[in-house]
Amino acid sequence: MSLTTYIKKRNFNTTPEPDGNEVSSGKKLEFVVHRHKASHLHYDLRLEMECVFKSWAVPKGPSMNPSDKRLAMMVEDHPYDYRLFKGVIPEGNYGAGIVEIWDHGTYIPLGHGRVPIDESELAEHVNNGSLKFFLNGRKLKGEFALVRMKTSADENAWLLIKHDDKFAVHSDYSSGRFTPASSPINKALKKKIPRNKVPKRRRG
Ligand code: MN
Repeated sequence: MSLTTYIKKRNFNTTPEPDGNEVSSGKKLEFVVHRHKASHLHYDLRLEMECVFKSWAVPKGPSMNPSDKRLAMMVEDHPYDYRLFKGVIPEGNYGAGIVEIWDHGTYIPLGHGRVPIDESELAEHVNNGSLKFFLNGRKLKGEFALVRMKTSADENAWLLIKHDDKFAVHSDYSSGRFTPASSPINKALKKKIPRNKVPKRRRG
């Protein structure tokens, strides 16, 4: 686990993002899902692991429906203090756009037979391309799996899948629907309706 790539991609004189000096309280493992309007709107799932956040960009966002398999592209590890980050990354910076916190909470890593395991064992599961965890979030709850796609040429391509448990939903799930209208990204998206789509006022 290293922040080398994270640091290399960023200029901390021009981005408000944290430089990674804070370390974990070490109590419970945390997770966060950022909603990120960069060149494309996507969600970033981050799981605290050995002092950093292992991170996956999920284009469609997480789903609570076990029949959804959501593409999750593994990206660079993020620093522990990124869990509280939200705001605007100015143009010209890596990931320029708006970042907001969509969900956050604690999580429990699970091993075979759904037995809780420790961080180092979980990190091994990440290396092996298959991990299970239990999320205690505000929106995301219950067991999930992340599995590296064997069929993809891109080794960073994973699938995020909800396990069927008492928290699972069996109707269409859209992460966007669970975002408050007051979210900065929703406000920015509203403003950007192209002129030709705005209905013209009729005369006479
Ligand atoms: Mn992102």
